[in-house]
Order: sequence, then structure tokens, then C-alpha cells
Amino acid sequence: MTQHDKTSLSRRQIVHAASATFAAASLASSTAKGDTMAEQELIDPVTRYPKPPFKKQSQPWPGLAGKMEPRPDHGETSYKGSGRLAGRKALITGGDSGMGRAAAIAYAREGADVAINYLAAEEPDAQEVIALIKKEGRTGLAIPGDLKDEAFCRQLVEQAIQGLGGLDIIVNNAARQQTRASILDVSSEDFDATMKTNIYAPFWIIKAALPHLKPGSCIIGTTSEQAYDPSPDLYDYAQTKAATMNYVKSLAKQLASKGIRVNGVAPGPIWTPLQVSGGATMEKLEKFGGMTPLGRPGQPAELASIYVQLAAADASYATGQVYGSAGGSGQP
Ligand code: NAD
Ligand code: MG
Repeated sequence: MTQHDKTSLSRRQIVHAASATFAAASLASSTAKGDTMAEQELIDPVTRYPKPPFKKQSQPWPGLAGKMEPRPDHGETSYKGSGRLAGRKALITGGDSGMGRAAAIAYAREGADVAINYLAAEEPDAQEVIALIKKEGRTGLAIPGDLKDEAFCRQLVEQAIQGLGGLDIIVNNAARQQTRASILDVSSEDFDATMKTNIYAPFWIIKAALPHLKPGSCIIGTTSEQAYDPSPDLYDYAQTKAATMNYVKSLAKQLASKGIRVNGVAPGPIWTPLQVSGGATMEKLEKFGGMTPLGRPGQPAELASIYVQLAAADASYATGQVYGSAGGSGQP
């Protein structure tokens, strides 16, 4: 054994001894905490939420969560925060319903002030979210308006910064999805509206916000399993989700040196108004989520913790990542 080996061996022993002491100490403290910590119920993901067949239903676009049967779960009664985003200021587009609403509720319970954007027709859903944010003692800002309009996107960012007193989390989550059996059924107006909502709006919002974002800020985009495995009837929508996945990765590289992280969430089939207001055919809706290994659609609440995780400071090495939640199929 060389002197070097001896030295490194003795260092290893020291480290082992130290970690054993540390492990014993942390075991003691976790046991002590265990006395006061409520035990988490073991939950079966298969039976946790409704599965198909679903009742036939349809609403005019953009639809209301409040009118869906069954009503989606956005974590209204279940999400528990632990201060992970205390003091943060977030803007969430499509924050009235679906994934955006689940993120808004979770962010407020984690201690963030939250501005949500939505369409005027969605005011009833939006007001429920604002009430839940305020119930947490946080600032809840309702900023309705059409994201297809560049001037509005700039104004949205300005209003959020004014109303929240700053901005450090942006969730580009709003989207338009309308099923069309054939590309021949996709009008230029359709195509334009999908591109404007899903691709231009995040571009305009990020450009307006960037000069205000400090190191430690983050941008999150909602992409989809459609980015990787597009459905035949979602020609325009699916390509915008591929573009979202792509901008997340490009912008992450561009903004890394500024200390701004950019990540994406890729949901599978989730029970939201987007699906019952033209996003899916009635046939698909009745069996919605049944093809996944878990045999059911996801609920927005089941993705809330991903939006929290990507925004939290302890995820500081995660940038350019896309986190999936798709019931066992889909990518990534
Ligand atoms: P949702 O209908 O609850 O949310 C979409 C929101 O987009 C609407 O609430 C609306 O406020 C907003 N929106 C649409 N057009 C707008 C416009 N012109 N101006 C302002 N706001 C506008 O549905 P969701 O499923 O929660 O959608 C959220 C995100 O999740 C979207 O990016 C969607 O592509 C993505 N996604 C959904 C599913 C799913 O199965 N539901 C799957 C993968 C990805
Ligand atoms: Mg909505």
C-alpha cells in the first residue's frame, strides 16, 4: 500500500464514520419528527380518479371546467403547500382551468403571488381561481384578454409586473386545440389561430418579460405527448407542441448564462375543458384516457407538483428539460 493509498483509505474511513454519525443523527431527527408528521395515505393511481366511459358532453370553445361532468380536480381541496415558492411572483396563461389552474392553486399554496390570464368567456372559472389564491393570503390578479394579439401580450406582462410588484415565474400554458379529421378541414383561420395562441403568444410574452427577469427566474412551457407522437386529427395543434418542446430547449441554452431556467411539461390525456370544447371527437371523449396503461385520463391536480418542482429554487440544475405525466404511455 502506498502512502497515497493509506491517505485516501483513512479519508474514506473518516467519511464513512462521519456519514454513519450523520445517518444516525438524521434517523433520530426523522423519528422525532415522525411522531408529529401525519402519515400519507397509500393511494392507488388506477382507482384514484374516474375512468371511461365518460358521459357525452360538449361546450362551445374555450369551455368551462365548472360545467364538465365529472368536474376536473385541480387540487382545490387536496394540494398542500410547504413554502417552496414563498415570495415568488408568477404569471400563468390559461390559469383559469386545467393545468394552468392546478399550477395557480399550487403556486399560491407554496407562497407565490399569482397573475392569471384567460379569455373573457372564462370569467366564472377565473373567479374561482382568484378566490382560492386570495384565500391563501396571496395576491391573485385576474388579467383577461386574447393572447392572439401581440399588443395584449405586452400589456399582460406589464400589468402582471405592476400588480405583483415584479415577475420571476412565467408559465406559458394557454393553448388552442381543435380536432379536424383532415388537413382539408383546417382553414387558414384555424391554422393561424392555433399558431398565434400556441407559438406566437409565448414568443411575445417571453420577449416582453425578459428584460425584467432576474437570475433565478424561470420559464415553463406546457408542451404535450403530441410533440413526440402526434394524432392524425391534430395536424396544426401537434406541431405547435413540438415547437414548444423545441423552444424550451433552445431558450434554455440561450438563457442559461443569465441564470434563467426554461423547462417544459408534457401531459398525456388530461380531463380539461380543452378536450370537451372541440379538442377531441365525441368518440375519443367517451373513451378518454382509456388507452393508457393506467386506463384513465389524468386530472390537472396530478401535474401540479411538476409545475412547482420546475419553478422551485432547489431544481436549479434542471433547465432545457421536459417532464412528462401521461399515465404510462407517451413521451418523454
Ligand atoms: P384548458 O382549456 O383548461 O386550458 C387552456 C387555456 O388556454 C384556456 O383555459 C384558455 O384560458 C387559454 N386560451 C386559449 N386560447 C386563448 C387565447 N386566444 N387567449 C387567451 N387564453 C387562451 O385545457 P388544458 O388541457 O389544461 O390546457 C393547458 C395546456 O395543456 C395547453 O398548453 C395544452 O396544449 C396542454 N395539454 C393538454 C392536454 C390535455 O389532454 N388536456 C394534453 C397535453 C397538453
Ligand atoms: Mg379555461
